[in-house]
Amino acid sequence: MPSHFDPSTYKKIVFFTGAGMSAESGVPTFRGSGGIWREYRWQEYACQTAFDNDPEKVLDFHELRRREVLKCQPHAGHRVISALQQKFDHIRIITQNIDGMHQRAGNKNVIELHGSLWRVRCSTHGVWEDLSPTFTHRRCPHCQQWLRPDIVWFEDMLDEEDVQAAAYELETCDLFISIGTSARVWPAAGYPVIARRHGAWCVEINPEPTENKDLYQQVERGKAGAILPQLFGVNI
Ligand code: NAD
Repeated sequence: MPSHFDPSTYKKIVFFTGAGMSAESGVPTFRGSGGIWREYRWQEYACQTAFDNDPEKVLDFHELRRREVLKCQPHAGHRVISALQQKFDHIRIITQNIDGMHQRAGNKNVIELHGSLWRVRCSTHGVWEDLSPTFTHRRCPHCQQWLRPDIVWFEDMLDEEDVQAAAYELETCDLFISIGTSARVWPAAGYPVIARRHGAWCVEINPEPTENKDLYQQVERGKAGAILPQLFGVNI
């Protein structure tokens, strides 16, 4: 069991992150205590039907989430990934998080499987970035339709291009490191299986045991911000 990874000895490293990666920055997780869906019913705030019924209410909620995320800062784990990416160009990130924390830490090559809190979408005029705490436009400047957050909401399908891009990275990596995901949400649950079948060494970082723990050859029980600097010998 490697206790210390040398990135130069791998052909591709994939970090697969979930809500636990951002929890350490202060962004609430999904299911645990303090999880947002205990306080807000997703049926009223995070699905297309809710948006069709009351777009202002849904947009207000997403502005609240933007402001909450902006109060949080990337941690040592994000900074380790940035430091590695500055030295090596074979390091990829697949995330289930929508908060943009990886990008704020300067992380690159990020596939956002569930979309982003920092993009909006017009069904006619496409997607664009909007990084302000409150939405710059609530309606499309070209056609006046409501702009919806470019997030994979409950009951939405994943974006097929992102799914394909993630599959390619999983099939071509030789080190797969899952961080802070309970991986109960499909297709995330299958990711270590795919990576391992294609020959990757699979590592899980999580302070709690998960249902998927047996899929990994190496399990690190601890927080991302403490384990990542140790695993890569980076002092941050
Ligand atoms: P989850 O809430 O189901 O699981 C989070 C996992 O992180 C838990 O297993 C927990 O033990 C672990 N964890 C907590 N602190 C950690 C730390 N410091 N280091 C490492 N691990 C830690 O989250 P999920 O599996 O990502 O699934 C939830 C879904 O909700 C995802 O689809 C995601 O898109 C969405 N979500 C996103 C955000 C965000 O963008 N930050 C937040 C909440 C939910």
